[in-house]
Amino acid sequence: MFESERKQMVEFQLKRRGISDEKVLNAMYEVPRHVFLPETTRSMAYGDFAVPITNNQTISQPYIVARMLELLELDKSDKALEIGSGSGYVLALLSRLAGKAIGIERIPELAEKSKKALREAKASNVIVLQEDGSEGKIQYAPYSKILVSAALPEVPKKLLDQLKTNGVLVAPVGSRMEQKLVKIVKNPSGFKETYHGGCAFVPLIGKGGFDL
Ligand code: SAM
Repeated sequence: MFESERKQMVEFQLKRRGISDEKVLNAMYEVPRHVFLPETTRSMAYGDFAVPITNNQTISQPYIVARMLELLELDKSDKALEIGSGSGYVLALLSRLAGKAIGIERIPELAEKSKKALREAKASNVIVLQEDGSEGKIQYAPYSKILVSAALPEVPKKLLDQLKTNGVLVAPVGSRMEQKLVKIVKNPSGFKETYHGGCAFVPLIGKGGFDL
């Protein structure tokens, strides 16, 4: 279902805008994004925009999802953590690109629905936790990759502590309204930070994020 829409999404929204990581392109072609949306908005699944889910949240625009995944440089040896896993769509992509994927979602209803959608999309090696993930999850640490899928005012030290040496964290960092996409690599000698353009995510609410 929606196979030609997915193909067009990959060609026109991703490849033509410079996404070149074949593993990311394949995963985005294979994972059925519509499965992670409510029935009423499934026809919007492959559009060039963020799509509303429930509880005033969204699945991010396909291009920004692909850009973040590309920046993470994932492979099957990775244990990846996604903070703000929402519908489970990005988690399904992570579960294909990494060896293990752990998602944390603050809103109970979304966490429950995402588990069902992940089963329907046949995602394996994936766990969904329902709690405030703004300071990560020490129980499963260290992670080789951390993806923060909601806006942070700054990256909490506790998250960086949970990153392996040579690990990578990607997050939108800035205000509630606009952020910069930041990539942080944890080198043996310290952290290297690079910036990858502007973005607008919903805020990460919690101890390490914004107030409710
Ligand atoms: N990547 C997700 C997907 O594929 O559907 C969409 C992420 S949505 C842009 C951001 C998500 O972060 C929302 O579902 C929101 O409830 C969640 N969130 C906000 N604060 C959080 C926190 N402290 N811990 C975990 N999740 C949080």
